[in-house]
Order: sequence, then structure tokens, then C-alpha cells
Amino acid sequence: MGGVHDFDGDTLVDTIATVLDGDDSDVAAMTGPEAADELDCQFALQRRLDARITAVARRWEQSGEWALDGSRSAAARLARDQHLAKASSRKTLCRGSSLSEMPATTDAFNSGRLTADFVDLLARVNTTGRAEQFARDEQVLVDEIAVLRYDQAVKVIDYWKRHADVEAGNDGDAPTVEPWIRISPGVNGEFHFSGESDPIGGAEIREGIERLANEFRLADLNKPESERRDAGRRRHDALVELVRRANAAPANGRKPRPLVTIVAGDETFARLCERDDGVVLRDVDLHGHLREAIIETMLFQDSMTQVSKSPQRTFTGALRRAVQVRDRHCQHPSGCDEPINRCDVNHRIPHSHHGPTVLWNGDLECHYHNRIWPNSTDPP
Ligand SMILES: [Zn+2]
Repeated sequence: MGGVHDFDGDTLVDTIATVLDGDDSDVAAMTGPEAADELDCQFALQRRLDARITAVARRWEQSGEWALDGSRSAAARLARDQHLAKASSRKTLCRGSSLSEMPATTDAFNSGRLTADFVDLLARVNTTGRAEQFARDEQVLVDEIAVLRYDQAVKVIDYWKRHADVEAGNDGDAPTVEPWIRISPGVNGEFHFSGESDPIGGAEIREGIERLANEFRLADLNKPESERRDAGRRRHDALVELVRRANAAPANGRKPRPLVTIVAGDETFARLCERDDGVVLRDVDLHGHLREAIIETMLFQDSMTQVSKSPQRTFTGALRRAVQVRDRHCQHPSGCDEPINRCDVNHRIPHSHHGPTVLWNGDLECHYHNRIWPNSTDPP
């Protein structure tokens, strides 16, 4: 059992037991700051414990001990013995197996720098076609993501994956979905919808529906609570409305502005290519959409360089896009992650205080933070 890694399992269990025994009864009496401190402490312990469990489960799997009672797989035995869902036991064993090829990740996991979620994120991209690049870049990736929030780490890993594939000549990965939709009648005359879409077509559909559904949400605020539609109903009504509008439009009418913005970069933002909800795109995702001219490319030298000057009160056109590309998510100091398509471009120094409508004074803020705490970093 020894040698899996360098701290004593019994000490760890004792520590955790002490913490739980000591504080369990006091939870209801905790103040907010005490609860926050305690959470930090408990999650730190959990990270260490997860790492230990992963390593020991790996050793147990390799020892063959699990097969002695005739069990067909280690995952099935672990699930039975520990009262886990099979998916959980499989995940633990897979993680252990992945880590055997990931020394830097293992070190960071064991020392509590990476959570199990981050380990899984790294393991997902360390596949056969990328093993060489992963081995080369692993330490850098670990150091880079260890200090990030999960969503940011996903993005870093997505970009790394994309460039590792280009480097290895695997850029031609086929799109993972062949888009389809089926609308089938049910027995009582209702309809059932199912389908899949590619990253851009799907985003365009979703954006169109969500935009209209949001208008319905705002309109419903004027109605009594009992008559307001829930989110699913609003999306359905939005889809019906979109079809009605499309049928009402002249066949040779001009197509409206594209509904999806692709943020692609140059210079400072070299290699940037993502959807306006922050999802990183592969080059192949753009194939088939290029002719529809939905790609917008922003060029600017650094994040504070002005691309245009404007006496106007609101951020529009190229200036608006420039702020969106520079910020890419809500800039509220809480570290809000809301992506471009759910944010507005506002003035840092308000227009009423003579703040100019220029790039450095632009600020991306989500609807929540813009509405609740406009032009302020202080809670109300
Ligand atoms: Zn926000």
C-alpha cells in the first residue's frame, strides 16, 4: 500500500474525522465568513482525498484483488462494494489509468493544486494523436490552468487541443455531428422534436430562439404571475413565431444581419476563434458557413488601441465589436463568466459624467450586472 504517494493515509483520515467531529454540530451556528473559511478547508481536504482514492483504486485495480470473488470488472466490483453508481466507479478508475501517463498532472493532483474536474479535463485531451505534444506541454498546461476557474480552463484546453491538432496534421477532424432534425407526430396529434446541429448552425438556431424568448419573458413581466410562461414554453412560442415571420417575409427579401458572431483574432488575439457564447471552434466547424459571410474578424494592435472615435452615446458597429472581442466575457469584478452574447457594451465612466464612447471606456457587462449594479463595483 505504501509508495503510492508521499503522505500517510491514516493521518489524512484522522485529520478529516477530527475536522468533521469537531465542527459538524456547529454548522447551524456558523457565521457567513466562518462557513466560507470552512468550505475552503473542506474542499482542500477533498482534493487531497480524491487524489488518494484515485491512486489507491488504481493500485487495487492493477493488483487483481477485485477479481478474486469472480467479479467481471473492477468498476462493477467497486460500484457494488462502495455503493456507487457504475458511472462514478468507472470515472474513478479511468482517472487513475489516465494519470499513469500524466506525471505533472499527478503531482499537481496529489498536492491539491488540481481538482478531479481539472484532471479529467486534461485527461480528455491526452489522446493517442496528441500524446507527444501533451507530454511536451503538460507542465505548462497544468501551471496555466491550476489558477483558473473551470470555464476558463476549458477554454485554454480547447485552444491547446486545436493547435496540437493543427501541429500534428489532424486538423481535418470531421465535424462530430451530421445535422438532422425529426418532427414526428404523436398519437394524440402532438409533435415530438429531436435532432442535432453543428456548432455554428446550432448556435444560430439557439440565438434566434433565445433572443425572441427573452422578448417574451420581458413582455410576460407585465402579466400576473399565474399567466407567465416558463422558459421551455417561451422557447417553443419563439420557434413558432420565427416560422410565422419567415413565412410572412418576401421570398427575395434581404437576409437580416447574421445572428451569430464568430470572434476571430489577429495580432494580440492570434489564433482566437470562438463563438460569441465563448465556445472554441475548430476550423472545420466553419466549413460550409463561410459563404454566408457570418464571420467577423476584428483587427487591432492592443487592447486599448482605439479603432474609431465616436461622439455617439452608445457603442455600436466596429467599436462595439472591438470591446466584445477584447473583453469576451462580463467584466464585473466578481469574475463573472457570462459570454458576449449575453452582455451589453457599457461606458466605464458614464456618458452623463462625460465618459467618451471610445474603446478604453467600453466595458462588457452581462444583463444582470448591468441592471443590478450599473456603473458601480459596489453591491447595492
Ligand atoms: Zn456579469
